[in-house]
Amino acid sequence: MALRKKTSKLTAVATAVALAVAPMSALAQQAKGPPVIRDTEAEQLLREYTRPILRSAGLEKQNIQIVIINESVFNAFVADGRRIFVNYGAMMQSETPNQIIGVMAHETGHLAGGHLSKMREQMAQAQTQMIIAMLLGAGAMVAGSRGGNSNGGLANAGAAVVAGPQEMIRRTLISYVRQQEENADRAGVKFLNATGQSAKGMYETFKRFTNDSLFAARGADPYVQSHPMPAERVAALEEMARSSPYWDKKDDPALQLRHDMVRAKISAFMERQDTVYRRYPSSNDGLPARYARAITTYLHGDLRSALAQIDGLIQVQPNNPYFYELRGQALLEGAKPAEAIAPLRKAVSLSNNAPLIEMLLGQALVATDNKAYTEEAIAILRAAVARESEAPLGYAQLAMAYGRKGDFAQADLASAQAAYLRGDNKTARELASRAKTRFAVGTPGWVKADDIVAAKPLPGQNSN
Ligand SMILES: [Zn+2]
Repeated sequence: MALRKKTSKLTAVATAVALAVAPMSALAQQAKGPPVIRDTEAEQLLREYTRPILRSAGLEKQNIQIVIINESVFNAFVADGRRIFVNYGAMMQSETPNQIIGVMAHETGHLAGGHLSKMREQMAQAQTQMIIAMLLGAGAMVAGSRGGNSNGGLANAGAAVVAGPQEMIRRTLISYVRQQEENADRAGVKFLNATGQSAKGMYETFKRFTNDSLFAARGADPYVQSHPMPAERVAALEEMARSSPYWDKKDDPALQLRHDMVRAKISAFMERQDTVYRRYPSSNDGLPARYARAITTYLHGDLRSALAQIDGLIQVQPNNPYFYELRGQALLEGAKPAEAIAPLRKAVSLSNNAPLIEMLLGQALVATDNKAYTEEAIAILRAAVARESEAPLGYAQLAMAYGRKGDFAQADLASAQAAYLRGDNKTARELASRAKTRFAVGTPGWVKADDIVAAKPLPGQNSN
């Protein structure tokens, strides 16, 4: 029954993935990248930014997730009380940790203030269209150019450009009234003070949206639409922020470096190569610039040069798990899975068994075609999907490993789970039905397969 329970918890994320392949078929050809970006390094950093704030808000037990949305415009919002959504554009446009932390503090203010309850009622009725429209954009999705990279990291994510029409839907769903905005500002500043942080970054960010005539004139920025920012509000925020003893507190240089590394990575994966080189020219020998260039070099097919650059990064930070992850990913995608295993093992160990990296290691082990690795791959992948149950890659690789072992019941079940997470209900049901015929009735595998057969499609999903 585990899966059926999960069904109700399956989220905007899964729904959005589903919609990308189902009813929006007219757009599907344009919409290449997934709507959500998965990357351990970026997620970990955002979790660390947000954890103290959530604790200070009394929300540390709610297990609130941070979801990075594949959109280049600035936006951050809470929609369902369990997740804070952040566009990758908000990371790119935040020059300091403190700026994005301030935005997270404000969003936590909405969460803590219960500003959701009314919206959740609206969402209960309109979840499908609204969340999807909000996440994917009812307008055009402009595809990225990374079709070939189907592995972990940020690969496979196309840049989405949001067109106008869904702004109305967005506004209905996630816009707040003025009083709620002011309350969220006040709560956000309180959380920052309580954690010994400055609200300067929050003020800087919001001021940019108020004063910048470009944003005002364009009127298209989703954050401004959902969080109205009249000048008086920003003035009040400034007064509160300046009165804090932490106003002038600077970000820790080590944290600033990690922030810059994540921004460099996002740029390298999401932006055009000429843009990447413009931001990070070869004259810049800082670590973030070298990181960006190493990634873009591998993405554009020069494996040998990419590996040399990655090795240079490893020399500077020999305990950075994400450099080994990148090395492994580059080798794996460069059709050298056997060579990818050692760096991925190192990345798994240095990251304390980050499940997305384990999935990459599992994928490398499977891709070697070496049966000696099959049992290990199964063990690693099972551990990974147990902790990271929304990433289809883990189940897809698990299915291949079971297939290699000749365990076709488990292979069908894992394939069904992968299809289900991709939102392909029809395939999920077919595979789960077949799995049921291969398991003995009532065994755990049979029950899981039965759950998938019986699962109701997520709202808005194609039920055929
Ligand atoms: Zn707000």
